[in-house]
Amino acid sequence: EWVNIIEYFHHVIDRFEMAKEQNVTFKRKLPNADLFVEVDLDKLTQVLDNIISNALKYSPEGGKITFRARELDELIELSISDQGMGIPKDNLKKIFERFYRVDKARTRKMGGSGLGLAIAKEMVEAHGGEIWARSEEGKGTTIYLTLPYDRSQEDDWL
Ligand code: ATP
Ligand code: MG
Repeated sequence: EWVNIIEYFHHVIDRFEMAKEQNVTFKRKLPNADLFVEVDLDKLTQVLDNIISNALKYSPEGGKITFRARELDELIELSISDQGMGIPKDNLKKIFERFYRVDKARTRKMGGSGLGLAIAKEMVEAHGGEIWARSEEGKGTTIYLTLPYDRSQEDDWL
């Protein structure tokens, strides 16, 4: 189905912002634009839910999570940044593998199965997009994802 992606991103963030119990601030840097992507909404929701849950899980007390979106050529890029412990460089690609978790000590108490990002990668790629991570240990992590969007669809709404 066709989804107004920025509006939908706001909606997902709202849901987490209302439910969160941690002392973490949400900051949105989202453009005011109607950008339509064709996606399976349940799957996109699952992808965003996992990334945001991870960001919350690894955020320190008083941390900030920043949500961004930008329009690239035929692509929309969404990103979610936290100020958590980060991920070592050598592991940045591996976090998208099934059952991979960065270190057992830190993740045992955090729970989870290590499947979330593997599923996210499958889904994003099935939609013709990409997903990747950037991180600095001790400073935080950003997960980026792109989705193709259709300019002609946008014109239909003018
Ligand atoms: P699940 O999502 O299945 O409940 P999970 O969150 O452990 O379990 P993934 O979402 O696939 O699994 O993440 C894989 C691993 O990547 C995590 O266990 C964690 O080690 C690391 N990771 C993911 N997101 C972050 C983040 N924002 N900051 C630090 N480490 C992260
Ligand atoms: Mg997860």
